[in-house]
Amino acid sequence: MEAVRWSRQLIPTLREVPQEAEIPSHQLLLRAGLIRKLGAGLYTFLPFGLRALRKVERIVREEMNRAGALEILMPALHPKEIWEQTGRFEVLKDVIFKIRDRQDRALVLGPTHEEIVTDLVAHEVSSYRQLPLNLYQIQMKFRDEIRPRFGLMRAKEFIMKDAYSFDADDAGADESYRKMYDAYQRIFRRCGLRTKIVEADTGAMGGSSSHEFMVLADAGEDGLVECDTCSYAANLERAESVLRAPPAFEGVGRAVEKVSTPGLRSVEEVSGFFQSPPSRLIKTLIYVADGQPVAALVPGNRDVNEIKLRRALGTKTLILADPVTIERVTGAPVGFAGPVGLKIPVHADLKLRGYRGAITGANQADAHIRHVDLERDARVTAYADFSYAMEGDGCPRCPGMLRTRRGIEVGHVFKLGTKYSELLGAMYLGADGQKKPCIMGCYGIGVTRTLQAVIEQSHDDQGIIWPVPVAPAEVEVLLINEQHEASVRAAEKLVAELEEVGLEVLYDERAERPGVKFKDADLLGLPLRINVGERGLAKGAFEVRVRQSGETLMIPMESIVESICAQLAELRRARGAEEQG
Ligand code: ATP
Ligand code: MG
Repeated sequence: MEAVRWSRQLIPTLREVPQEAEIPSHQLLLRAGLIRKLGAGLYTFLPFGLRALRKVERIVREEMNRAGALEILMPALHPKEIWEQTGRFEVLKDVIFKIRDRQDRALVLGPTHEEIVTDLVAHEVSSYRQLPLNLYQIQMKFRDEIRPRFGLMRAKEFIMKDAYSFDADDAGADESYRKMYDAYQRIFRRCGLRTKIVEADTGAMGGSSSHEFMVLADAGEDGLVECDTCSYAANLERAESVLRAPPAFEGVGRAVEKVSTPGLRSVEEVSGFFQSPPSRLIKTLIYVADGQPVAALVPGNRDVNEIKLRRALGTKTLILADPVTIERVTGAPVGFAGPVGLKIPVHADLKLRGYRGAITGANQADAHIRHVDLERDARVTAYADFSYAMEGDGCPRCPGMLRTRRGIEVGHVFKLGTKYSELLGAMYLGADGQKKPCIMGCYGIGVTRTLQAVIEQSHDDQGIIWPVPVAPAEVEVLLINEQHEASVRAAEKLVAELEEVGLEVLYDERAERPGVKFKDADLLGLPLRINVGERGLAKGAFEVRVRQSGETLMIPMESIVESICAQLAELRRARGAEEQG
């Protein structure tokens, strides 16, 4: 095989940090010459980016196959009708790319494939004997994201591995779910990623339970909590938390008193005026839920989690009321609503239970009331947990405390139940002769996002630090002076020997200054680099640099191949051990 010579490659490294790239991994993908942008959320993979991507795909494929899933490839173009059959054309209408063919038939560019795979199974599966079945594909998905950003992290076109399981009973469905959960752990570990598994909301997918695989990173778009004591961890969209004791405020037991607060609307303004902590306020938000106005109360220092609120109310829709509605139901302009005397249903966050001595709006312009005892003074329809969990809250599972983190969602597993199989007719005949819907699960990995997450988690100021299993090549041979005959001969012999034992080598033989080549090598970040130059040759040795530790070793020429193989094995092993620990 022809050696991979840098001068014959397309690895267009950049010295400058590209303006558009806000986070390290996006900057490094561009700077290391791995991807290039075509438009918002649209990227070309250059050869070395593609090499790394293929390695991630290969790991995903191997582990999916190992778990018994069968690879298929479904169309990216779907007839619109099938999306209407499940009602998801409506649910996902903002993200779906819609197109028309020459006969003016409406088509959809697939954002995910539950409908398509269920339709397939509806036609091909008829008996319990054909179950369980798990079908997967690795394919381009299309989503018209509102804010494509951070390079491959949130793109309009991205590669997903999506798998769908079909079972005859709940026990089987649980087993299929567990297999995927385990496979995902192995996949991310093999990619050199440390992930945190969190309980997740089921969102537009429907279904009963789900977990997300998160890569902890400041740049992550998801908020999550983890307990400092037990294993509880959850996406903020869903996280529960508890207050160990209701806070004690002054004024408890006193009668409600109205206070004039002209023009003071926000929590900051009001708590400042009363010289009280924001938590002493009862924040009152008016929503319209399935057409009916309702009040939602949360402590002043917390925000309403609308996903949790809608779930608690059990309604299909939930939107913040407009100023006219607010004035109609509270009798006051925006900013002065409170629970006392309200005629609409009042839902209070669980953390408000036992709230006394509180401050809230008077339902009258320019006025608030204090010494409010929620139980005594207001009619609360129901208490439920619908505020966002916060750093320092109590864990819902143990006496521990919650910490908040940011994460990048690289994978997501769902128990779907029978929603899709019922709507699309994926039925099987049981041993008892009864016709039943298949019980489904779906499982996604953002393959391109995972690749970028590896870089986000593994880099330094100089560049990428590739974990061996997903590095675009394992070793770089760097020829320091391409004019020096003996160096050229030694380097070429070395490259051939390394390739002979099956290693992937990048040979930097460009006519560039050594400084440029060193910088590019650190930027591209292959696990090991061998510098071939006069000084080393004079001593009968090569200089080996380990990208991860920054160590430099002098290795005698005769044992170089053996040493490189041993070091790569050690790097793979160390990463694995880190995962265990
Ligand atoms: P997000 O909440 O980040 O929008 P999602 O929950 O909508 O993602 P899923 O439908 O669960 O995504 O898709 C499975 C996986 O595909 C996600 O876990 C993520 O890794 C990846 N993914 C989703 N949207 C994008 C995107 N716009 N660009 C790149 N990868 C994506
Ligand atoms: Mg998801």
